[in-house]
Amino acid sequence: MSTAAQSGHATSATDDTNDVAAVFLSRPRSRLRSIAKQYDEAAQQTITPTDEPYKIIWGSRIFVIGGVLNKKKSRGRRSWVIREGWFLTELTTTGKVKQDVWCCRRCDAYGKPQFFSAQSTSASQGHLLRLAKPSSSF
Ligand SMILES: [Zn+2]
Repeated sequence: MSTAAQSGHATSATDDTNDVAAVFLSRPRSRLRSIAKQYDEAAQQTITPTDEPYKIIWGSRIFVIGGVLNKKKSRGRRSWVIREGWFLTELTTTGKVKQDVWCCRRCDAYGKPQFFSAQSTSASQGHLLRLAKPSSSF
C-alpha cells in the first residue's frame, strides 16, 4: 500500500494589486480645485479673530467664506440660495474686501463656477431659475 502523498500544490500568495486608482490620482497640479473642495477645507478651519482666513482661489480671484471677515452680517433670508451654492467674500490682490458674491454649486460641479454679486439676490435667483427648468411639481 502506498500512502498517497498529500502534497497539494503550494498556495501561492495572492497579490492582487489594485493600483487602478493611482492612474486617476496623477492629475497635473495646475488643475484648479473646485470651489466645493476649497470651501469644505475653509469651513473646517477654526477662525479666531487673529487668524488669516483660508483663501479660496479661482484663477486670479481670491475669496474667503462669506461673513468670516464681518460676522455681523447674517443673512438668513437667503437660506434657499445657500443650499444651491456658497456666499463668499471676494478679496482684492492686496487682501481688502472687494465684494460679496454668491457661487453657484451646480456650475462649480461642472468645473465652471459662476459668481454673482450678493448685493442683490435677483441675479443668483434668476440663474437658479434658469437651471431649474419648470417641471411639473415645483
Ligand atoms: Zn450655476
